[in-house]
Amino acid sequence: MRSDPASPQTEPDLRGLSVVLVEDERSIAEPFARALERSGFRAAVAHTGSEAIALVGKLDPDVVLLDLTLPDIDGRDVCRMLRRESDVPIIMVTASGTVTDRVVGLELGADDYIVKPFATSEVVARIRAVMRRGRVGGDAGKLNIGELTIDVGARRVWRARHELELTRREFDLLVRLARDTDKVVTREELMSDVWDMNWFGSTKTLDVHIAWLRRKLGDDPAAPKFVHTVRGVGFRLAGPPEASA
Ligand code: CA
Repeated sequence: MRSDPASPQTEPDLRGLSVVLVEDERSIAEPFARALERSGFRAAVAHTGSEAIALVGKLDPDVVLLDLTLPDIDGRDVCRMLRRESDVPIIMVTASGTVTDRVVGLELGADDYIVKPFATSEVVARIRAVMRRGRVGGDAGKLNIGELTIDVGARRVWRARHELELTRREFDLLVRLARDTDKVVTREELMSDVWDMNWFGSTKTLDVHIAWLRRKLGDDPAAPKFVHTVRGVGFRLAGPPEASA
């Protein structure tokens, strides 16, 4: 499934995906594994770092959810070891969610991170996002759109040579728009892909994030160069002039 770039528009089917959940606290691990199973995943639990490495080797899962604080091996080292053996998507689970953890996690080769406490729906949304990113190809992860360069894997963006500091949502939003450069991405698609497939109600938060993203891109909302509003429908990221001619 991850190697099918032919239909980037279709949602990845998450049912039957195998998840290895690495979590030493049984009071979290067992109920969470059951919740993942109710969402259609096959879930296996590892309670230590060494169990995790063995289990990932044995099951070859589609996703690993990795707690950072484990009794035997530091989660960061587990991540590094897993990365040496496999390119399985790894979502780090952190209690603190500090910038340092996040940056270190992503540098170690984790694909995303999630902060405790979390709702199952949030985890499912993260898994969905990681799977979607994966299917475009982790190492073909550079997108060039005019002056913009997006390194999807490293989650970094440059305008001309200047690196932009985007938040996680702003980055996800930009990548989602960039995947369909010069096409309209509807508000509903953006909400469901960037936020959660189970969002309800207002999309006001989307407008707020679009405004922030535009500001960071140096885009004038009255005459945008990058992010264009398609009234009543959604947004379109403009490609370079030569590509859209
Ligand atoms: Ca723990």
